[in-house]
Amino acid sequence: MKGNEILALLDEPACEHNHKQKMGCSAPKPGATVGGCAFDGAQITLLPLADVAHLVHGPIGCAGSSWDNRGSQSSGPDINRLGFTTDLSEQDVIMGRGERRLFHAVRHIVQHYHPAAVFIYNTCVPAMEGDDIEAVCRAAEQDTGTPVVCVDAAGFYGNKNLGNRIAGEVLVKKVIGQREPAPWPEDSPVAPEHRHDIGLIGEFNIAGEFWQVQPLLDELGIRVLASLSGDGRFQEIQTMHRAQANMLVCSRALINVARQLQERYQTPWFEGSFYGIRAMRDSLLKLAALLNDDDLLTRTEAVIAREEAWVDQALQPYRARLAGRKVLLYTGGVKSWSIVSALQDLGMQVVATGTRKSTEEDKQRIRELMGEDAIMLEEGNARTLLDVVYRYNADMMIAGGRNMYTAWKARLPFLDINQEREHAYAGYTGLVAMAQSLCLTLESPVWAQSHQRAPWLG
Ligand code: SF4
Repeated sequence: MKGNEILALLDEPACEHNHKQKMGCSAPKPGATVGGCAFDGAQITLLPLADVAHLVHGPIGCAGSSWDNRGSQSSGPDINRLGFTTDLSEQDVIMGRGERRLFHAVRHIVQHYHPAAVFIYNTCVPAMEGDDIEAVCRAAEQDTGTPVVCVDAAGFYGNKNLGNRIAGEVLVKKVIGQREPAPWPEDSPVAPEHRHDIGLIGEFNIAGEFWQVQPLLDELGIRVLASLSGDGRFQEIQTMHRAQANMLVCSRALINVARQLQERYQTPWFEGSFYGIRAMRDSLLKLAALLNDDDLLTRTEAVIAREEAWVDQALQPYRARLAGRKVLLYTGGVKSWSIVSALQDLGMQVVATGTRKSTEEDKQRIRELMGEDAIMLEEGNARTLLDVVYRYNADMMIAGGRNMYTAWKARLPFLDINQEREHAYAGYTGLVAMAQSLCLTLESPVWAQSHQRAPWLG
């Protein structure tokens, strides 16, 4: 990838940061890649495509340290869970054998695993060596008859966020728009004039949580043409240009995909969330409004009313136990406000929220939810987080797995909210599951015991 292409990706016009500074995202600083390099970001974005073989071209360390660490679920194929790498050695580099190894790796994968496509991820070593991966892709595609796509996101190009964008760019330029969608089933109960196709961008189906929302969309006659990338399929992504609307679910890092699909195919898009009652209501209504179908809007309102009625009832016992409990939320991006909304729906009080990787728009939504004086934590090292907990008497911490030991060492109830979690919190059913998890966490007898003096100390 050339320098000007990287600069173009950083200069994202649909991102609010562009109005504040010269370039979209901050330039990588020394040591910044420790939190995830561009390769890591690209791989994390695309790995959930379940029928694709993901081949990492580089030394074993690139693939080995970060494979399959997101809890995305697939309803069918699971070839994406196999780790493929060319495992370049010093000898390969010295003898210039990288491209040949790559070609044979693709051939081997196609012969033995029959994927819908092979994605090749470039990494630092072959990028510095100058391997012509595009040429290998063309040759391997011709040889195997299977689409082979180059994802040129070597780690030194930039940070994880840039990698997310490169992944999105690859899909827009090389995958989307190459196939027509399958027709609706003849026996579909939805009248032809009320059938709608949409695309999801940034929905990763963590712990299978989108499957809790899908039945509502099915009922409304809204077909998800393609999901980028949770439970996604290569051929579905190819049809995404035919979506009538796109929803950017949880990833400002993929905003470039939503913007470019609007520019190329005039597909309107909006940003929404599936966490919590209010967010579900907003998202479903915005979707119905974008699809421009009055009948759909009426049916959506009826579905929302019905779902809210049962979920209100189901949440009664949990609300009584959670009301007024104080939470420190430390996550980032869209979740910095969408989870606030869900927690408030449960009657909890969020004392502070993390805003790492959050945009100006995310922060504005936080202010709308938590008030103008909302405490937003840009950086959350262990000391800062615990200071906030003690100052505001927080009852628990909700954050990503890396903060778990900070909470536990302080004998504080902790709930994992990031992509490694094993519970599905999206949709109405997900909110009930979240309420259950919160009650179980807060009411565990271990907290009372851990605050007592150890018996052997007398
Ligand atoms: S791509 Fe580069 S920075 Fe990323 S893991 Fe591999 S060697 Fe490290």
